[in-house]
This record gives sequence, C-alpha cells and structure tokens, in this order.
Amino acid sequence: MNIIQNAINGEKVTSTSPNRVPVFNPATGEQSADLPLSTADEVNAAVAAAKAAAPAWGDMPPLKRARFMFKFNELLNKHADDIAREISKEHGKTHDDALGEVARGIEVVEYACGIPSLLKGDFSRNVGPSVDTVADRKPLGVVAGITPFNFPAMVPMWMYPVAIACGNTFVLKPSERDPSAPMLVWDLFKEAGFPDGVLNVVHGDKLAVDTLLDHPDVKAISFVGSTPIAEYVYKRGTDAGKRVQALGGAKNHMIVMPDADMDKAADALMGAGYGSAGERCMAISVAVPVGEKTADALVAKLRPRVEALKVGPATDGDAEMGPLITKAHQDKVLGYIDEGEKAGAELVVDGRGYAPQGYENGYYVGGTLFDRVTTDMSIYKEEIFGPVLSVVRAKDYGEAVDMINSHEYGNGTAIFTRDGDAAREFADKIEVGMVGVNVPIPVPVAYHSFGGWKRSSFGAHGMYGPEGVHFYTRLKTVTTRWPGGIKEGAVFTFPS
Ligand code: NAD
Repeated sequence: MNIIQNAINGEKVTSTSPNRVPVFNPATGEQSADLPLSTADEVNAAVAAAKAAAPAWGDMPPLKRARFMFKFNELLNKHADDIAREISKEHGKTHDDALGEVARGIEVVEYACGIPSLLKGDFSRNVGPSVDTVADRKPLGVVAGITPFNFPAMVPMWMYPVAIACGNTFVLKPSERDPSAPMLVWDLFKEAGFPDGVLNVVHGDKLAVDTLLDHPDVKAISFVGSTPIAEYVYKRGTDAGKRVQALGGAKNHMIVMPDADMDKAADALMGAGYGSAGERCMAISVAVPVGEKTADALVAKLRPRVEALKVGPATDGDAEMGPLITKAHQDKVLGYIDEGEKAGAELVVDGRGYAPQGYENGYYVGGTLFDRVTTDMSIYKEEIFGPVLSVVRAKDYGEAVDMINSHEYGNGTAIFTRDGDAAREFADKIEVGMVGVNVPIPVPVAYHSFGGWKRSSFGAHGMYGPEGVHFYTRLKTVTTRWPGGIKEGAVFTFPS
C-alpha cells in the first residue's frame, strides 16, 4: 500500500505514527493509500526546519526569491497535467476541472513572481526638517496553512507562494482525504531549488492542527475549510497570539431577474451548481428566480439539463461531474435530499440511487434539483456541498436581496440580469464578499484577493493578492534624521 510521506527540511520522511487513515479513490471506492496522522513531535520538527530556514530566506533580496518562483512556475506549467491527474484520482473531479484548479493555483505563483514590486514600500522625504520616512513590510517568520479537500492543489497555492515570496517559511497541513497532489507540487517546489525548510508538509488531523495553532514559533495561520473548524482555528490561534485568517463554508445564491436570458442563466447554474459535484465553496446552491413566471421558465430550462447531466469517473472523458469525496459525505448529501423531500420541497430531479455502470462502489450522487424550497428548510439553511440545487422563489427583487442578506454565510453571490441599475444596486448593497454580475462563480483573479463575509470568513484579511501580502508581512516605519539636521538642546514637546 502506498504510504503518504511528510516533507520536512527538504526530505521526504515516513511518519512513525501508528495512527493511519485510508485514502480512497472515490470513483471506485477502493483504498489507494495509507496516510499516517503525524505526531506532535513530527509537526514540531517541521516547524523547527521552517524556523531554521527563515532568517536566510527572509534576508534574501526579493528579486532572488522571485527567481525561485519563476522556476517553480515553469515546472508547474510543465506538469499541470500530472498534477490534475493526482487531483482527480483522490478527489474525483473531472480532468478538465482539475486542470482549471491547477491553472488558478499557478496564477497565484505568477503573482508571487512580482514580489520585488509588491514589497517596494513607501518613502517620504522631508516629513520634518531633514527628516525622511521609509515604510516597508517585513516577513513574519514561520507561518502555517491548513487546507480542505476540495481544492487540494489550488487552496495551498492561495497561501504559500505569497507567504514564501514575502520572505516567510511555511508548514502546510493538507487535507487527509487527497494528499497526493500537494505532495507532487512539493516535489516541483524542491526541483525549483528553494532552500530546504522553506516549504514543509505534514499530514495529520486535529492533533497536527492543534500543534500548529499552539506552537510559539508559528506566527500566522491561514485556514480554509468548514465554518465550525474555521471558527475554532480562529479562536484558538488568536488566543495563542497569532495572526489568523480562517475561511469557512458557504451557501451561495444566484438571483435570476425576469429580464435575464433564461438559457444563459440555466447554463450558468448547471456549471456553478453541479461542477465538481457541488463541492466548491463558490458553488451556487440556491437559485432565486424573481417572480412566478421567471421561476416557471427557469425550472423548465433546468429540468432537462439536470436530467441529462453526465456523471462518471474522471477517466470517462465525457463526464461533466464526478463522485463525492467519501462514503460518509455521500451519505450526508443523500440524507439532505431525504430531508428536503420530507420538509415538502418539490423534488424535480432526484439524484439518489445513481451509479455509473461498473462503478457501483463509487460515491456518486446524481444531479438533484429541488423547487419551492423555503428558507426554514435545512436544505436551504445548511451547506450541503453536493450536487443539489435548490430553487427558492422570490416575489420581488427586494425579497431576494433580504433573503441573501439574512443568510448566515456571505461567501459568493451572483445576479443574472440585463438591467444595469439593478446590477449596480445589487453589487453595492448585498452583504456578501464576492459578487458576480452575470458571472456565476466570481472567484477573484490572483492580483485581487479572495474573501467572504459573515460566517464564511474569520479574520481581517482575504487570501492571495494584496491582502495576502499584507497578511504575511508586518509594517515597519523608519524615521531618519542625520546629525547635520539635529538642533542643539533637548526638546520636551511632542514632535510635530
Ligand atoms: P474541514 O473543515 O473538514 O477540514 C479542513 C481542514 O481542517 C483539514 O485539513 C482537516 O484535517 C482539518 N480539520 C478537520 N477537523 C478538524 C478539527 N476538529 N480540528 C482541527 N482541524 C480539523 O473541511 P473539508 O471538508 O476538508 O472542506 C470542505 C469545506 O471547506 C466546506 O465547508 C467548504 O465550503 C469549505 N471551503 C471554503 C473555502 C473558502 O474559501 N471559503 C474554500 C474551499 C473550501
């Protein structure tokens, strides 16, 4: 059995932990690897390696650090296909979808290649007589990232390229469900020639996470995962005096206005609702048509599309959507469909009991569509993280907006309309961090920053882009006067 190794101080090492969890191929239900849950000592060794590497790495001129990033970028592009295959094998998403994930991760590396410009800082001459001020940003030291299963390559790359380019060293704790893609990316990172200890990877569960959260040498924590764990990580990390950014779960709504192109809106909902089997934090899981006529037209367009959705393993080039990540998650999603039906929602397309021929042990759920969902139902309130789209009918635009603003999550949202006034008003007033106008999955590009509102995100900073640079650095402001500019005699008033 393939045993997943850690990467500490530039070397692959096998954990000595007796506690192991299986890694599965969700398309077949077969175990593909064993993952040891690292001990606290192993996590401490990774932090020690990162700490030893931090001074020299942080002192290296940013241009030189950028040169390693350029090489890393080149290798990632060369091996994008291989990384995508590793993702699909353990996550189950289609090859093209996995390639998209890799491409969005690479974009962050490209952004990090520009680090000399990003760290330039501010200079003001003559802030007082013969006095100059320089403000620039310094690395924090050792920082850590804890990441979810749904983007095993991209989400880690939201974090460490920026952190490392800023002069920090990094310890990554990836998801225990699909660890092979981040390890292949680590191999490429090593091949790019980065010094040992700059990026370390430890696998594990709560023990590994808690060890990082409590470790005095870890100065900042980046987390992406479900909301209860994000909140826990934020509290425990900040209690330990660390800077923490913790991104959580979501329930993303898409308003469809009466003037929208219904075919384009339905196509957008198909990709955003069922792509990656709905296991995206920016997936649209609630469609909100405005008015009964719009709702009837939209459901009529969606029904045949959902019925025709091609669900299969990533090895089937025709598949539009793969299986769910685990058997437990498949059961959870099926449980939500049962709950929705019992609560009185209209089950338009039922994805229960579906498995492609020859893959009966895989964790499949077919595309599922509910109509006439109401806001008191669990399928509306909770994040399902599966291929289940709920239609909640709104009588007017105001009701649609109130619905979104009242939801506990505020990650992404979209409006489909031709009305510029409505779109502008929506973008301005909606209480959600990332908004799309006729764009169903408005994930910001690498030179902007990613971040939700409300219980989708804890902490002040978004990930990657300028927010990433701010999160992984601290401001230092130096005020300078040379002796020629100093007047004789002590001054006891506040400098002005
Ligand atoms: P998860 O919260 O179960 O796990 C995330 C990470 O936390 C993993 O590395 C895991 O090992 C660790 N972890 C799990 N339980 C823990 C505990 N009790 N104590 C400490 N650490 C623990 O999330 P998941 O199932 O891997 O990912 C899906 C979730 O991630 C969804 O809720 C999704 O919305 C969210 N997500 C959010 C974003 C975003 O940007 N907001 C992006 C991707 C995924």
